[in-house]
Amino acid sequence: MSSSSPGWGRRGSAAATIAARLTFDKLTRKFDDKPALRGVSLDVEPAETVCLLGPSGCGKTTLLRIAAGIEQPDTGRVLFNHQEVVGPSVFTPPEKRGVGLMFQDFALFPHLTIIKNVMFGLKNLKPADAERVALATLDRVGLAHYAADYPHILSGGEQQRVALARAIAPRPSIILMDEPFSGLDPRLRDRIREETLAILREMRATSLIVTHQAEEAMRMGDRIAVMRQGQIVQVGASEEIYNQPNSLFVARIFSEMNEIPAIVRAGEVDTAFGRFKAPDLADGAEAVVGVRFMAMGISKKEPIEPQKGVIGRVIDRKFLGDAALVEIVVDGVERPLQVRLRESLAPKMGDECYVVVDKEKLLVLANDD
Ligand code: ATP
Repeated sequence: MSSSSPGWGRRGSAAATIAARLTFDKLTRKFDDKPALRGVSLDVEPAETVCLLGPSGCGKTTLLRIAAGIEQPDTGRVLFNHQEVVGPSVFTPPEKRGVGLMFQDFALFPHLTIIKNVMFGLKNLKPADAERVALATLDRVGLAHYAADYPHILSGGEQQRVALARAIAPRPSIILMDEPFSGLDPRLRDRIREETLAILREMRATSLIVTHQAEEAMRMGDRIAVMRQGQIVQVGASEEIYNQPNSLFVARIFSEMNEIPAIVRAGEVDTAFGRFKAPDLADGAEAVVGVRFMAMGISKKEPIEPQKGVIGRVIDRKFLGDAALVEIVVDGVERPLQVRLRESLAPKMGDECYVVVDKEKLLVLANDD
């Protein structure tokens, strides 16, 4: 059974495409001698959604623009279904690639009606066919009734839906989105994101979505590719990357955490919370024991197993609605630790309490600062 969320069209009614594989092979690109991409390889499976996640300036947009054909690499190849669209002697222009594009500033044409905006990418169809397809696509995003109006009468969220309709109407097998939801207010964003994802799945489009928000990447991506300084540093499903980040950089992107510095000795690190294995780190290496805010708790009484609790004192407490963020100084840890707790359970300023950590969730990582 199809369902729909209020204001949107019927789920399952978006036209399917023929799914394509998108491959980046050792791409490099410099701007003024500064590398923006430093050997990027990535395979996006047919009908898969991959989110490119990373801080500002790490090369996400450059990679997307190269896939779209708006930018050219210095070296490397791009393949659609194993066919080169970019290579040493190949360059397929953007209009011949059949990709759908959606950017942050979704730029609808103000002088064209909404249906004409959606028909823009349908120039190879007869006008009557283009109109029919555009109307059906507008219907899918729940805006067919605005077809004859101009974009300025729409809210930001509705304009974004028109931009989505324009991107998907030609049934591209590959869709590229650059921070598509960042201009929307948070209440709208969740719904538009969810419906967009539903449409991408119905279409079986292969999708690459740029974001700098880990939560957005986790909500949308079948896999996430984390970028840093022009390279992909980790690729995997969200759970895998979240639980096993391969670097401090990746761990920090995914959640707030306390970082306890330690030196590796004989494959272990010693902290106020006990000794932990550091199997891949050399003797004498600087390590960081990462404890996520959610992986800590407090106990007013001393926990039964002495290793499990370290006594501390609350030096700050911030009210965050349902939660409270509490800062606690503990013996043997230089910087105060932050703990996120249910507001009603959080201790008060100056209280003494025992800090407990969920040892299963500790991360021992090289200090790569
Ligand atoms: P953001 O999240 O801020 O959009 P990004 O990860 O998408 O960042 P890019 O826009 O790909 O990063 O930029 C990567 C690097 O290349 C940056 O240092 C940027 O300044 C530089 N760069 C990108 N495009 C150009 C250009 N046309 N001319 C000069 N430098 C550029």
